[in-house]
Amino acid sequence: MEKKTHIAVVPSPGFSHLIPMVEFSKRLVHLHPNFHVTFIIPSLESPPSSSIAYLQTLPSNIESIFLPPINKHDLPQDSHLTIQIQLTVTKSLPSLRQELMSLNSKSPLAILLSDPFASEVLSFTKELNQNALSFIYFPSSASSLSYCFYLPTLHENISGEFRDAPEPIQLPGCVPLHGHDLPEPVQNRSAEHYKMALQRSERLLSVDGLLVDSFAELEERAIRAMAQKETGYPPVYPIGPITQAGSNNEEKGSECIKWLENQPPSSVLYVSFGSGGTLSQDQINELAFGLELSGQKFLWVLRAPSDSVNAAFLGSSNKNNPLDFLPDGFLERTKERAFVIPSWAPQIPILGHNSTGGFLSHCGWNSTLESIQNGVPLIAWPLFAEQKMNAVMLTDDLKVALRPKVNENGIVEREEVAKVVRTLMEGEEGKEMQKRMKELSYASINALKEDGSSTKALSEVALKWKNMTIV
Ligand code: UDP
Repeated sequence: MEKKTHIAVVPSPGFSHLIPMVEFSKRLVHLHPNFHVTFIIPSLESPPSSSIAYLQTLPSNIESIFLPPINKHDLPQDSHLTIQIQLTVTKSLPSLRQELMSLNSKSPLAILLSDPFASEVLSFTKELNQNALSFIYFPSSASSLSYCFYLPTLHENISGEFRDAPEPIQLPGCVPLHGHDLPEPVQNRSAEHYKMALQRSERLLSVDGLLVDSFAELEERAIRAMAQKETGYPPVYPIGPITQAGSNNEEKGSECIKWLENQPPSSVLYVSFGSGGTLSQDQINELAFGLELSGQKFLWVLRAPSDSVNAAFLGSSNKNNPLDFLPDGFLERTKERAFVIPSWAPQIPILGHNSTGGFLSHCGWNSTLESIQNGVPLIAWPLFAEQKMNAVMLTDDLKVALRPKVNENGIVEREEVAKVVRTLMEGEEGKEMQKRMKELSYASINALKEDGSSTKALSEVALKWKNMTIV
């Protein structure tokens, strides 16, 4: 029997950081059955219940181990989300190392694959085996990866805050963007989380290779720019789109899907801000009144308000009933054309439903790819992380999204909401966007076919990994 190649995968805390790495591993062992994958998972407090449930459905050649969770009291109080994620990994390093050594003694590890936030673990690679390789799974766009590689250069070349830069910023292979659309962790250069972002970027440059969750036909220029020899970057393999599409259809019977069944084709706007995005009470009011004013049908995944945009990201959810925060009489007035679902919805079946015609999204990369796969044009409403960069790509480059204007207080007002919703759902511009999205959808399907660009890139990596001689 052929010997299996053993890979250890280390994601960072958070449901949406785990899913793409698991989905990637499923695809890897499906196409190349001689791999065995073990996940070693750090978490803060306790792992999200969604992650635990999800890991119960893995094939036998993918295993998972949860590390002892890190206590929130051991982190600096009220620290930025990226600091919490990063420090959870840093504080888990001793237990991570122990698990790796124990696994390695039973079945030698050929590859250590980590999320960018968990890349500190890659310093153990050579300790495991001299020939072992360190790889990063980059769960966002190639443009974001280009930005990460380029951040040390921006740091050198631009003085002052990026948002005050007089000229648009030109990242290799990307459309120009304003400094204020760069990821929010680098918006304050004196902050600790800025320093950490820079260190993460520097670590990306020293790995043996990176897998990026994108595909050649979507981001050809960014991918080509990173492959230029003179950059000195490690090899980048575009292997996406990797999403739960195809393995997530258990929600067919849910109430919101039944409601969608009774709506006309492409008539419903789906509204959701990812696994952890939250709006302020003022913004919930404006969005509610705007949706009402638009006269369009909508399916809204509503979370209780918070003044922090990512309050629910690491699973700490507000126990209040989200529906209590809607304007008085809203549900009654919109009941003929709206379905409001508290906190969580089966997003992939919703996006794949014939009645869904638009997606008002925070532009998290998983949501973006899921929308592309299903050919659904977007309203880009970025909240945190690299979501503004994704919004720029979707609006200025791919032209498949509308971006509402934000007022001086950071609020999208109701008239603006109504305007973009109507334009997307019934305007000419919306129809053009839908056509372009359909083309991208076909391209995303083709990329994953047997002879598709992403399948070929994955085979190339698999061959490289298989040829590792580990003693
Ligand atoms: N998701 C879902 N139901 C919800 C909210 C989110 O199934 O109500 C899934 C969604 O399909 C996506 C992931 O959670 O796969 C969110 O990831 P994304 O990168 O879009 O955003 P993040 O959660 O990282 O902000």
